Amino acid sequence: MKRKTVTKILRSTAFACMFCMLCGIIGNESDIRLNASTTQAELEAEIEKNKQEIAKLEDKITATDGEISENEELQGYYYSKLLLQQEGIDLLNNKLYAKEQEIADKEQEIADKEVEIVDTERRIEDKKIEIAGLEKENEENLHQFGQIVRTMYMNDTDDVLTVLAGSTDFYDIFVKTEIMNNVGEQSEQFMNKLLDDIHKLEDDKLQLEADKAQLEQDKKDLENDKADLQAEWTALDEEKAYANQLANQYTAEYNDVTSHISDLESLKDQYNYQIAVSKEEIEAYQKEIDEIIRKAQLAASNTVVYDNGEWRWPLDPKFTLITTYFGYSAFHSGNHGAIDIGNGGINGANIYAMKGGEVIVAKTTYTPGYDYGMYVVIDHGNGFQSLYAHCSAIYVTVGQMVNKGDVIASVGSTGWSTGPHLHFEIRKDGSRVDPLNYVNVP
Ligand SMILES: [Zn+2]
Repeated sequence: MKRKTVTKILRSTAFACMFCMLCGIIGNESDIRLNASTTQAELEAEIEKNKQEIAKLEDKITATDGEISENEELQGYYYSKLLLQQEGIDLLNNKLYAKEQEIADKEQEIADKEVEIVDTERRIEDKKIEIAGLEKENEENLHQFGQIVRTMYMNDTDDVLTVLAGSTDFYDIFVKTEIMNNVGEQSEQFMNKLLDDIHKLEDDKLQLEADKAQLEQDKKDLENDKADLQAEWTALDEEKAYANQLANQYTAEYNDVTSHISDLESLKDQYNYQIAVSKEEIEAYQKEIDEIIRKAQLAASNTVVYDNGEWRWPLDPKFTLITTYFGYSAFHSGNHGAIDIGNGGINGANIYAMKGGEVIVAKTTYTPGYDYGMYVVIDHGNGFQSLYAHCSAIYVTVGQMVNKGDVIASVGSTGWSTGPHLHFEIRKDGSRVDPLNYVNVP
């Protein structure tokens, strides 16, 4: 009894292991978000959705790239503007500095002028004091002269008095009268010299006053010059303030554009990430489809009776121009596991089943520019399948039994195709084999 139980457990373990291996082939269910009852059509629809999503994302990336290069142009524009502004500011700083030097020079000149003015004023004061001294001396002389005159009057010199009566000041008396003739020779000489000295001092004083007036005029001119320089400085400073304002503006614009570019770059990264995710999903779905096809083939091989006869050429005999053979193709950058036929006028031509069998794929939805486009796969039993791609129309449905020579589709250019042609494959036990090993070219 005990032995039997152990055997049962071992058997169920073995069964569980096999089941697990199958899971491994299909892939993790939660990854592809599909359940066991998912049909091939549903999977293909999912793949379509992903492909369309990828196409959309690629468009977005192209648009984003365009936007990035536009922004980079702007960035360069603001940067050159900024450089220009900064050069301008440097120039203005130099000008301002030179202007400040000129102003300082002018101020020095004004200060010198002021010293000269003070000096001249001091000399004027000196002259005034000298003049006052001489005038005082003169007054004393006048007093003495008066006494001389009084003495002369006492001695009865009438005409002297008469003359004096009409005179207002001492100098007048000298000019108007001959009285000096009556004064002693010595006194006359002394008085004359005194007069000359006073006149000379007066002249000096006048000259100094004229000098001072000139100095003050010079100072005023210098101050005007300084005011002009200061006005020029102010204008330069305003210009600099404006240049700084522009520089700040350009800096802000530059920074805006730079951060916009970095936003766009991260958006692009996001798109690329989404594309990678979609591609992974497609791969997972494709694996599942392959598995469904494999299972369909297994099922079909039970019902399809393999025809041991010859394979039929899939087109009318006039279409035999082989544009790509089975094997390596540079254009397909790898193995081209099929034959391409691309005669002129082939578009819309009938495609015939190469042998009888069951239609296991009849795909009418596709993304332009990708893969097989519309295509048909027929299972012929005995591990053989044939595939007909890039069709413009399909006349059979999945599960339908067809005979050799039945029209199953029309030639077209759907999917990844550069012009109307038939791409056909023969598969043996899941691998693509060279069709020319099976079918003769008519
Ligand atoms: Zn091809």
